[in-house]
Amino acid sequence: MKKHNFSAGPCILPQSVFKQASQAILDFNNSGLSILEISHRSKDFVSVMDEAQKLVLDLLNLEGKGYKALFLQGGASTQFLMTAYNLLENKAAYLNTGTWSSKAIKEAKLFGDVEEVASSKDENFNYIPKNFNVPADADYFHCTSNNTIFGTQLKEFPTTGGIPLVCDMSSDIFSKKLDFSKFGIIYAGAQKNMGPAGTTLVVIKEEILGKVSRQIPSMMDYKTHIDKESMFNTPPVFAVYTSMLTLKWLKEKGGIEAIQKLNEEKAALIYNEIDRNPLFEGFAAVEDRSIMNATFNLKDEKYKSLFEDLVKAAHINGINGHRSVGGYRASMYNALPKESVEVLVNVMKELETQA
Ligand code: PMP
Repeated sequence: MKKHNFSAGPCILPQSVFKQASQAILDFNNSGLSILEISHRSKDFVSVMDEAQKLVLDLLNLEGKGYKALFLQGGASTQFLMTAYNLLENKAAYLNTGTWSSKAIKEAKLFGDVEEVASSKDENFNYIPKNFNVPADADYFHCTSNNTIFGTQLKEFPTTGGIPLVCDMSSDIFSKKLDFSKFGIIYAGAQKNMGPAGTTLVVIKEEILGKVSRQIPSMMDYKTHIDKESMFNTPPVFAVYTSMLTLKWLKEKGGIEAIQKLNEEKAALIYNEIDRNPLFEGFAAVEDRSIMNATFNLKDEKYKSLFEDLVKAAHINGINGHRSVGGYRASMYNALPKESVEVLVNVMKELETQA
């Protein structure tokens, strides 16, 4: 039986995408060949890459605005260093909202000065710091839009003047509308809202490049990948193909605007129950709650095994919290049906009845 999958990532993708992707492994485009056995330089695959790049810029409303979409490898973790490699000449400004921001800061320090403009570490990252200043002499400002582990999300981005805004959107890209043209670089590991693990999306405004004096190794240089249309080396063909299918699914569903409405409905369902049910409490500050990852705890641990038995019986998967937070985390990415959230909410209600 298919599970209700709240996994934090890799996570649920649309069922139709799983079907199409598995078909392409057996026979891609009725070619008599698997997508896994054809050249990445073949016409068929080049058109997959082109379409994936076009869909990204189209969905983000960035077509014709000087942006390129790249499908790279090495995960979002490689972007922690690649962003700094390509942009950090003297000093960069970072907002520290959790584990992933902290890791990005650590890598950037290898390349220059890092000013941490604000941090919510004092409260185990359960809120988003506000009212910080971005120094005017920074080469760029870096933030994490959605903190997958802690369940917080930036609702506003600072105005940075001419300073490029660099954002790790790994866990909320394509989930809600933003003015994406405010950003110099957006990066995201594919394995939440875009596709399987194995590729990383980098959307980059070309004009912000070429400002650092250091030599950049070819694979670390965004310019290399832009010049070679994201085909400098063999791209992760299956991850790119499956991402393209997921992006197409999103566009057919009505794009980001339509999915945002659904995501907000799903988030309202679970947060209303967390706030209503006397047995539970939320982890993240209410005003900073993520619409992708809802973090919550049982007020009394004595109900833990009963709750977890009910969860299991309802075929729910993946709601254990990250080890640094504990408790529970319901990740509700784009492809998670609203019915799955209803099933989880009913389990929370059932616990209240049985407790
Ligand atoms: N940033 C965020 C916000 C994440 O959620 C994750 C992974 N969960 C990462 C970065 C690291 O991504 P990767 O494993 O692709 O390196």
